[in-house]
Amino acid sequence: MTDAITIPAELLPADGRFGSGPSKVPTEAMSALAAVGKSVMGTSHRKSAVKDQVGRLRRGLSDLFALPEGYEVVLGVGGTTAFWEVAVFGLVDDKAQAASFGEFGSKFAKAIKIAPHLSDPTVVTAEPGSAAYLSAEDGVDVYATPHNETSTGVAVDVERVAADGALMLHDATSAAAGLPVDMTQTDCYYFAPQKGLASDGGLWIALMSPAAIERAERIAASGRYIPAFLDLKTAIDNSRKDQTYNTPAVATVVLAAEQVDALNAAGGLEAAAKRCAESAGTLYSWADSREFATPFVTEERLRSNVVATIDFDGVDAAAIAKVLRANGVLDTEPYRKLGRNQLRVATYPAVDPSDAAKLTGAIDYVVEHLA
Ligand SMILES: *Cc1c(COP(=O)(O)O)cnc(C)c1O
Repeated sequence: MTDAITIPAELLPADGRFGSGPSKVPTEAMSALAAVGKSVMGTSHRKSAVKDQVGRLRRGLSDLFALPEGYEVVLGVGGTTAFWEVAVFGLVDDKAQAASFGEFGSKFAKAIKIAPHLSDPTVVTAEPGSAAYLSAEDGVDVYATPHNETSTGVAVDVERVAADGALMLHDATSAAAGLPVDMTQTDCYYFAPQKGLASDGGLWIALMSPAAIERAERIAASGRYIPAFLDLKTAIDNSRKDQTYNTPAVATVVLAAEQVDALNAAGGLEAAAKRCAESAGTLYSWADSREFATPFVTEERLRSNVVATIDFDGVDAAAIAKVLRANGVLDTEPYRKLGRNQLRVATYPAVDPSDAAKLTGAIDYVVEHLA
């Protein structure tokens, strides 16, 4: 029955991809990938054609994030999940403090906790929909938090906790390119490119401060057992040569470089963050104005501008998502383990603010016709 609801074309977004990850890849970027085609895809990653693309991405990210002197763009294979293990082996000396207020923060905290070579971390927790905050603690050498918790749509400010040589790590997988950041407040701002960077999966990227690089080098020289695939020192050395330790996801590199160049040309991080704020603002104020919807995150300053979560009351959000999907509007379902009557909508820089606005009209239409 729900499948029978046809949303009028004039109410539909021009591009129906609202997934929080993988996320919308701009059509222009896919055309650009096709255009470089034979000169890059299917060619050696140790030769200049591919290395030039890696170099383009590294330079573009340096510009986008206005990297301070000595910060480096490091990359490797395996996505953010791999980077958590890279950090467990290569950045945590002994004891970490980790913030856990959703699925992704909790996964990294767990990776640290079960590592046999590390002390038990301090894990600060908060209920989904709110945030847990790090605070200075003796003996802690790494502080870690998500910048944006993708599973709940909660974003926190990037702020250094202690000035005693401890490293600040930020999981920016969904935040990167869409939320403002002052890089002097972090030592390792890491992400995978299939979210805010509008690319595909398979890689991790870490923007590392000189202190983080020094830490990685010291730990690598310490004799600690480090699997070769997760060796951060090896990744740093390879990245300096615009390559990865093992074969990279080349299309992912090209698509990410396209998006980063496009963002830089369109006014950089500030403009991108503004665009995301506009899209998310449209969704939150729409939800505030509807009887049947409310923003899930009650504390306004924690509401993410890149992943908007909207709770529904008196109408089945899963049914709405199903009708939207049948009409080509994809991936508005909530994070599966959160288990709420909710829609989750990505408002990354690649999403057109006018499409976010269109989406609210489409949802109104569906709600009316489900009743
Ligand atoms: C998606 C996501 C991850 C996992 O990324 P993968 O590349 O799939 O490993 C980790 N952290 C956050 C905040 C995410 O949004």
